[in-house]
Amino acid sequence: MSTKEFVMGNEAIALAAKEAGVSVVAGYPGTPASEIIDASLSHGIYAEWSTNEKHAFEVATGASLCNQRAMAVMKHNGTNVVTDFLMHVNFTGVRGGLVLISADDPGGNSSQNEEDTRILIHNYAHLPVFDPSSIQEAKEMTKKAFELSEQTELVFALRPVMRICHARGIVEKEDVTYQKKPVEFKNDRSRFVMSAVVEKEHGGVLRPIIRHRWLNQKQNELKEIMENLPFNHIEKADGEVGYVGCGIGYSYLKEAESILDKKLPVLKLTTLPLPEKKVIEFVSNYKKIVIFEELEPVVENLIKGICYDKGIQVEILGRKTFLPAEGELSTGLILKAIESAEANKAMPKEAQSTYIPARVRTQCVGCSHRGLLYALKSVVRRTGAVVTGDIGCHDAGSFQPMNLQSTIYCMGSSIPMAYGIKAGGYEKPVIAMIGDSTFFHNGLTGLASAIFNKANITVIIADNSTTAMTGFQPHPGSETNVRGEQFQAIDPASVAAVMGAKTYICNPYNVEETKKLLAEVVKEEGVKVVIARALCYLKFSREGRVSFEARKVTVDHEVCNGCKICVSDFGCPAITIVDGKARIDQDSCNGCGVCVSVCARGAMK
Ligand code: SF4
Ligand code: SF4
Ligand code: SF4
Repeated sequence: MSTKEFVMGNEAIALAAKEAGVSVVAGYPGTPASEIIDASLSHGIYAEWSTNEKHAFEVATGASLCNQRAMAVMKHNGTNVVTDFLMHVNFTGVRGGLVLISADDPGGNSSQNEEDTRILIHNYAHLPVFDPSSIQEAKEMTKKAFELSEQTELVFALRPVMRICHARGIVEKEDVTYQKKPVEFKNDRSRFVMSAVVEKEHGGVLRPIIRHRWLNQKQNELKEIMENLPFNHIEKADGEVGYVGCGIGYSYLKEAESILDKKLPVLKLTTLPLPEKKVIEFVSNYKKIVIFEELEPVVENLIKGICYDKGIQVEILGRKTFLPAEGELSTGLILKAIESAEANKAMPKEAQSTYIPARVRTQCVGCSHRGLLYALKSVVRRTGAVVTGDIGCHDAGSFQPMNLQSTIYCMGSSIPMAYGIKAGGYEKPVIAMIGDSTFFHNGLTGLASAIFNKANITVIIADNSTTAMTGFQPHPGSETNVRGEQFQAIDPASVAAVMGAKTYICNPYNVEETKKLLAEVVKEEGVKVVIARALCYLKFSREGRVSFEARKVTVDHEVCNGCKICVSDFGCPAITIVDGKARIDQDSCNGCGVCVSVCARGAMK
């Protein structure tokens, strides 16, 4: 029986997993995909936060090899982390349906970069990708992907963009009709042991070549499947220019149609590989086509290839040649593109960029990171140290007023980059700053490498017992896992000590103590690890647990001389300057007391 439900895109994907009879869902937190794990758990599916995306994909593959349906969940940066495994599982194939959710963030609304993982999954790993145009379609595609994954023995990917993951809409809720298969692990070493062995039964060819050949042979089967799926279709209408809407680009195109009150000739393309026959049928009718896709010219290049091979003469406009090459699509942009394409003009310059009002990125009022960053700033000023950063709430320390981290790349890069700077000859101290979740994700191996190579750096682990930035997901250093099971939290200090680093623990709410410790530690030789330990205020204060004794802090206006250091050098959002004196907004202030150490005049009491 089918009923309707109003859900978020990510919840629709989890609902599809339930209806598809999925047994295992594994992921690593990352906006815009994070909610899928909790939503899967709420449907009674075994769900876990793995320590990183590669491990999540490996867990899901393990379940698939037991004939169970499984799903790996991540954002685009995580798909990069998965690449090594992806380039093996594409050759081996899977047993139970295995779906990779690779959520992209065109426009980099909540990411350090923007990228199009269709390239990695389809162009590079030669695996099929569904690119949903709506929430309902994301649900339908997820279910279909499990079925097709089992049919073809290939991993299927769903690439929802941010506007699908975080939008809400009505979806059809259906009964679970899939009968789970019995759990069975059957050995097939010729397939699942990826090794450079000679295959006698294949004329002495090496196994990697045999498996590569298998994957190449699968491509024709995939093309045929895509031709017959309901997700791609042609919409006929009068007009000189044909429009191709890919994924969310199709939805924008439909919105543009309703604004223009005009039916346009449209080819909806939401699968890779492309349905070649449909593409040929559509493009052959026009002298010009315009392709709307997030983010890179993937479909554009593929259609150009098809037209070249088939000798079809058509002008093809898209991300490469006509639309902005960076940033998100929007209905406004598509309206401009339609107007320009029909008038045979280039896109107007003002349509090429999107104006986003500036906002200051900082930590929450009362966050322990602010005390840590302020203490670190004092050490950096005195020593000329370079700070390499990582991903997490603390990374806002790279902006004003802290201006601390000089590099931020991707998960775990802070530690190897720090000792690389030393290896490059930088003589002053170098300090890597990383969060606890990131430490378990990809920091451990960097630390091992630093110790092994006798580096001379300081590593600060900002340990707040959660993955705060993405919505408080637990990690191996937390007290419980996502299923609420208690376990012995892994202490980053003990791990670092066992690895051979000199370790220290400080309370970042105590700025003076932290400053003193850091000033001493940076002078020491070797790899030193400082664990700045305090619970994430935003998460744990809701449970009545905070890492400081709250007090009422006020400004003595007789003492305050309006120097503004508490605002321009420290930056707690609860402090402002009013009529030339500091003022604390008591409704926002949580009484952490850190600002008391910031005011050298002693005006904060
Ligand atoms: S969520 Fe937690 S760790 Fe992040 S800025 Fe807020 S208080 Fe700090
Ligand atoms: S409270 Fe202290 S730091 Fe802030 S403006 Fe007044 S004197 Fe300066
Ligand atoms: S005590 Fe000071 S630093 Fe802490 S929240 Fe209040 S104003 Fe901000």
